[in-house]
Amino acid sequence: MCAIVAILAGHRPVVQDVRDALFSLEHRGPNSSGMCGYNIPENRLRLPLRGVGRSQEVFGSMDLSGIEWQAIIGHNRYATSGSNLLTDSQPLLSTTPPIAIAHNGEVVNVRQLTEKFSQKHVYFTECDVEHILHSLSEQLNDRKYYRANSIDDLVETRVFPAIEGLFQEVEGAYAVVGMLAPYGMFAFKDPHGIRPLSYAVKQEEGGKVHMFASESTAFNFLGGFQDIRELERGEAVFISFDGAVYSKVIEQRQQAACRFEKVYFGFPDSDMWGSKIYDARTQLGINFGKQYEHLKDMIEVVMAIPNASIPAAQGVAWYWNKPYGGIFSRGNVRSFLQTNEEDRINAILNKMCFIKSRIEGNVVLLMDDTEVRGLTSKIVIKKLYDLGAKEVYLGLTFPPIRHPCVYGIDTPDYDELIAAQCNGDIAEITRRTGAKGVYFLSEENTDNAIGISTSGVCRACVTGQYPTGSNSIQQYKAERKEQRLKCKPTIITP
Ligand code: SF4
Repeated sequence: MCAIVAILAGHRPVVQDVRDALFSLEHRGPNSSGMCGYNIPENRLRLPLRGVGRSQEVFGSMDLSGIEWQAIIGHNRYATSGSNLLTDSQPLLSTTPPIAIAHNGEVVNVRQLTEKFSQKHVYFTECDVEHILHSLSEQLNDRKYYRANSIDDLVETRVFPAIEGLFQEVEGAYAVVGMLAPYGMFAFKDPHGIRPLSYAVKQEEGGKVHMFASESTAFNFLGGFQDIRELERGEAVFISFDGAVYSKVIEQRQQAACRFEKVYFGFPDSDMWGSKIYDARTQLGINFGKQYEHLKDMIEVVMAIPNASIPAAQGVAWYWNKPYGGIFSRGNVRSFLQTNEEDRINAILNKMCFIKSRIEGNVVLLMDDTEVRGLTSKIVIKKLYDLGAKEVYLGLTFPPIRHPCVYGIDTPDYDELIAAQCNGDIAEITRRTGAKGVYFLSEENTDNAIGISTSGVCRACVTGQYPTGSNSIQQYKAERKEQRLKCKPTIITP
C-alpha cells in the first residue's frame, strides 16, 4: 500500500503543498517518500528528491524554499514488492519519452512483463511501477506521441489510447499519477478500480490548483479544495501544463474496490467510494451489534485495539448501550525492526496503554478490524486477562482472511494467515487467540457498512476469487513469497 499525490498550479510553485499532502498520507507508506517536479517556464523535468523513512523524516527538515516546480508528483511507499531501500522508492523516471511516474497497488503478471520489456529496456529497480513505466513508454512511442500537432491530438489520439493499450497488458491493481514532459500531468486507475484515487480543484487568486491524491484527507489537510471526486475505474485524466483538463473512462471491468481500505487502511476523515471512512467504520460496529445481538446481555464493556477499530467499537457500544473504552493508543511510537517474538510482543504492547479499572472484573468485547496473523489480538487478550478481565470476547469487522492479497496490501502467505491455518475453523481460531469467543462480521454486513454491494468489492482475500483472473496469480504468489523471505520485511504493528 502506498500514497500518491500530484499537484499542478501553473501560477506558482507547489512543493510545500506536495510535502504537506505527503505528511497527511503518511499512514499509507512508512518505508520511503519522494517527489519529482517539473518547472513549467523552463521546460525542465527534474530528478526526484527521495529518502528512506516516513515523509516527515525525509522532508521535515529539508529546505525546499528555493524549488520552483509548478507541477509535482509525490509518493509514500509501503513496500509490498521490491525492497525497503532507496533504490526501490518512487517516483521513477524515463527519458524516452520523458515521463515521471508513481503508483499505488501491485502488478501481478510480473514475469510476463519482465520477459517482454527486458528485450528493449533496462530494469533499474525491483519496484513494480517500472513495468507500468515501460508499458506506457512503449505505448506512447508506438503512437509517435511526439508528432502530435496539438494538445487535443496528443491526449485524444495518443495518451488515452496508450493507457488503453497499457490496460490490455498490465494486470493487477494500480492507481497511477505521472507527468509527460513537456505536455502535462496525468492520472489513471486500473479497469477494476481496486485502489482509490481522487481529484479536486482549488480556485486561487492567480489561477487554479489541480490535485490528485490517494485519499481525500489530503485535500482536507491542505484546505480550500472543491469538487472532490473519486476517479472512476478505468478512467484517465490528463491536465496540460497550461491547465486544460481532459478525462475519459477508457475501459471498465467488474468493479473490485478494496474493502480493506475502508475497514482498516484509510484515514477516518477521507471520503471513499461514496461515504466517509469514519461513518463506515461506525456502521461496521452497529452492524456487528445487530449480527451478534445475542452477546449483548453478557458483555459489560466494549473496547478497541487502536486505532482503526475505534469507531466500530464505539458503534457497537452505542448500539448496545454499553460502556466504551479501556485501551488507548500511545501515539506515534515507532516500530523498530522486530527480530524475535519478544520484540514483537513489546512493540505491540508499547503502542497501547491499558486502563485497569475498566478491565478488571469485567466481561470485555475487544473489537479489532481484521484478523491477519492473530498475533496482535492474542497479545492484547492475554494482557486483558493479566489485568483481571473476567472474560474476553473478540469481535472483527471483517470476514476471515483466508487468502493472501496480491493487490498492494501486505498480508502474508497462507502459512502465516491464522484463518487459512485453521481452515476457517472458528473454534480453532478462538483457541489460538486465547479469547472466550471470536466473532467475524459477515461479508454482507461488512459491505453494507462500507457502502458497496458485494458484487462491487474485491473478495480475493476472503474467497480466493481474484478479480483480475487467476492466470498470473499462482505464479506471482510463489514469486512474492520467495521475495518476502529474501527481504524479511519489517512487520508494522497497528
Ligand atoms: Fe483488498 Fe483483500 Fe482485495 Fe487485497 S485481496 S485488494 S486486501 S479486498
